[in-house]
Amino acid sequence: MTLKDRDKKHLWHPLTQHKLHPDTIAITKAKGCVLTDENGNEYIDAIASWYTCMYGHCNDNITSKVSAQMQQLDQVVFSGFTHKPAIELSEALIKILPQNQNKIFFSDNGSTSVEIGIKMALQYHFNKGEKRNTLIAFEDGFHGDTFGAMSVSGLSVYNGPFEDFFLDVKRIPTPNSENLEAILNTLKSIVETNKVAGFVYEPLVQGAAAMKMHNPDGLNAILKFCKAHNIITVADEVMTGFGKTGKHFASLHIETNPDIICLSKALTGGLLPMAITSCSQNIYDAFYSDDISKGLFHGHTYSANPLACTAALASIELLLSADIQNNIQRVIASHEVFNQHIKNHPKVKATRQTGVIFALDLNTEMARYGNLRDKLFKFFMDNGVFLRPLGNTIYIQAPYVITKKQLEKVYKTIEDALKII
Ligand SMILES: *Cc1c(COP(=O)(O)O)cnc(C)c1O
Repeated sequence: MTLKDRDKKHLWHPLTQHKLHPDTIAITKAKGCVLTDENGNEYIDAIASWYTCMYGHCNDNITSKVSAQMQQLDQVVFSGFTHKPAIELSEALIKILPQNQNKIFFSDNGSTSVEIGIKMALQYHFNKGEKRNTLIAFEDGFHGDTFGAMSVSGLSVYNGPFEDFFLDVKRIPTPNSENLEAILNTLKSIVETNKVAGFVYEPLVQGAAAMKMHNPDGLNAILKFCKAHNIITVADEVMTGFGKTGKHFASLHIETNPDIICLSKALTGGLLPMAITSCSQNIYDAFYSDDISKGLFHGHTYSANPLACTAALASIELLLSADIQNNIQRVIASHEVFNQHIKNHPKVKATRQTGVIFALDLNTEMARYGNLRDKLFKFFMDNGVFLRPLGNTIYIQAPYVITKKQLEKVYKTIEDALKII
């Protein structure tokens, strides 16, 4: 029996309606930018397995260090204990994060990093004797699948059964060149009638909303408004972190620093699950007290797992290397050339790019998980390219180490796909 058939017996996959989509593809190997399936077919991983493996799959620099760490210290409780990989990672991160960030809190996936950011924002006010229970978030944002993260996500495709249990969230549109004044007016009326604790947002690029991009000046004005009203700003950089936007973090494109930053995905270069919520000294100080109950009583069993910390440390070393920085610039320039070539194609409605993230909207309406989307996905896979269209958007977010030849193949396959729709 093939792996694909054995899979059907006991496995329940994420984001999947199994009756409509019974088939999976069994991947047996991944190296660099190439995934290999059980039949020996190869696919260029043009979305870096949900934007995680940015230095290439099974990168020797990362695997060798993790493998050495495995012989030394595997796992230990992080309450009351500490260890070198966590300490070194905190030092390395603080050096590259926006300069107001000073404390690092660990968890193990993007959703929980946001959950912690929300709890920090709510408890910050609570500890200061103020009850603030409303959050602000962008329309179409995506922040994860746990309850707090789901609540702030505007992009709730199938949240029907849970909506009654959500936190109180008010939504604003993302800023563009025309709507900033209207947004600021909306914010004013929200703070007049609500006690707002925090603003949770994806800076510059909203991943799950099909790589929707917005303008840094507009976001800066919103962040300034929040600061003026003591609304804690929580930047969800789970997707945008670690070089995707051309800088180490999207927040570095914006003048006003966030109070809290959520990180995961490329944090460990895709090797192990881990997440971090960082914050400024000001946030931390609101929890620092002789009163035990003012502490942040949140913890995960695998917090700061030494192997994951080692993978993250090795990943940051790679990110800072001249080699990876050159690759990032090369991919950005290459996308710009492709953009010029494809943007006037009759089947293309719009294109956009921030850093290594490139997206193209088709001139066709398409359901997020509909038939046309499936046809497109199949076409890409049949041609050896792993791309996951989001509705009518095709996007590329390949590992930084993707070769020129591999990138050319991705572009050509996208162009060929325009013929079948
Ligand atoms: C993927 C993602 C999350 C959720 O992370 P998980 O590790 O899947 O829980 C949250 N926010 C953003 C912006 C993401 O892209």
